[in-house]
Amino acid sequence: MSTRALIQYLEYLKSSGVSHLYTPQSDKAKLLGELQAKYSGCDKCPLAAGRIKFVYGEGNPDAVAMIIGEGPGEQENLSGRPFVGAAGQLLDKMLAAIKINRQDVYIANIVKCRPPGNRNPEAAERLACMPYLVEQISIIQPKIILMMGLVAAQTLLGNSESLGWHREKTHEFMGIPAYVTYHPAALLRNPNWKKPAWEDLQKFQVDYEALLG
Ligand code: URA
Ligand code: SF4
Repeated sequence: MSTRALIQYLEYLKSSGVSHLYTPQSDKAKLLGELQAKYSGCDKCPLAAGRIKFVYGEGNPDAVAMIIGEGPGEQENLSGRPFVGAAGQLLDKMLAAIKINRQDVYIANIVKCRPPGNRNPEAAERLACMPYLVEQISIIQPKIILMMGLVAAQTLLGNSESLGWHREKTHEFMGIPAYVTYHPAALLRNPNWKKPAWEDLQKFQVDYEALLG
């Protein structure tokens, strides 16, 4: 393509509203910050009504791994940060057990506002919120995804299979290898699941470390 044709093509993309063909690493944090502010007043679904704080997500914008949960709980709604309550503290320990610091990864949820009484987010709520997560993943471009629990897995993979089914194999979301394990809140209720969760985490760790090279 000649330079002139290329410029014309870029102008055409710009006039069509395309603003990010390639996002330099250093711009990711800024962009995520802008998007967080832009969406913080979202009212696309009924969960907006119970929102104290919008919980966009946090972590390393250049993360190799993204951790995806279900939605904010009480502490998250109060603080605006994902996974900071009891389940969050267990998540930190689970990550530490496979030598991952919370700051190294990026942590987000399927829905960004707290479902009342911590009920599961409904299908329409998950669908309404999904574009924000898809956008986060496109910006961060993680090499591996860990989905915490059945809601995250079923939503991202678009099925209604069991947790056992999901745990047995490796999946793909947006072309990125994606793993499923127990939600830490479920592990707090059922300590018997810690052993199989540990097996999932070890499998994830092997593939994560291979990506780090
Ligand atoms: N549970 C989740 O799924 N996400 C959070 O951010 C907190 C608890
Ligand atoms: Fe908007 Fe998501 Fe909050 Fe629903 S949960 S109001 S879609 S940000």
